[in-house]
Amino acid sequence: MFIGHYGPAFAAKPAAPRVPLWILFVAVQWLDFCWAALVLMGVEKVRIVPGFTQGSALELYYMPYTHGLIGALVLSLLFGLVALAFVREKRAAALAVIAAAVFSHWLLDLLVHVPDLPMFGDADKVGFGLWRWLWISLPLELAFLLGGAVVYARAVPSRRRFGDLALWLFVAAMAAVEVYAAFGPAPTSAADEAKTALMAYALLALLAGLVDWGRGTVRA
Ligand SMILES: [Zn+2]
Repeated sequence: MFIGHYGPAFAAKPAAPRVPLWILFVAVQWLDFCWAALVLMGVEKVRIVPGFTQGSALELYYMPYTHGLIGALVLSLLFGLVALAFVREKRAAALAVIAAAVFSHWLLDLLVHVPDLPMFGDADKVGFGLWRWLWISLPLELAFLLGGAVVYARAVPSRRRFGDLALWLFVAAMAAVEVYAAFGPAPTSAADEAKTALMAYALLALLAGLVDWGRGTVRA
């Protein structure tokens, strides 16, 4: 899953209003940030197989550290603890929300991935495989994104004139990126895919921070 991961990032905001949106954006892709880094280091492995499923050309045959159930739980807790450096109040609640946002990545991946998510070590792999049917997985991703954005827009009403416009332009651009990723060319190599993912996730987190700030509700 790609853009659908941002639904929980938006939707988590009312549960932890003092946590900046950009942190939630990094949180929901944290497993993939780590995955991309480990792929570039040659630790986790992926093969590009055009048409592997309708929704993804990635054959993710070895990723126990970032997408194993145990690894995902550990990374969720670790990211939550590190992210607390940016939160001053209600830190226990913030830790729970941020760690849950990180772990939501694994749950949403579980829906779309074919069985490539190991439960223990590199074994007992699970995945419901909705990526096999793009007409299911694509609307599902867009629905998650839109649902989350609606929750966020209601919970964090803009105090500035163009705050809502900026939010919905951002959401529309994210949806367009998802559609392009679904129908555009397959990545040329594993390293290429990892670098593109890192840049895209970083850019989206930066833009989310600007959108959040532009609503005039972020307190320093
Ligand atoms: Zn993932």
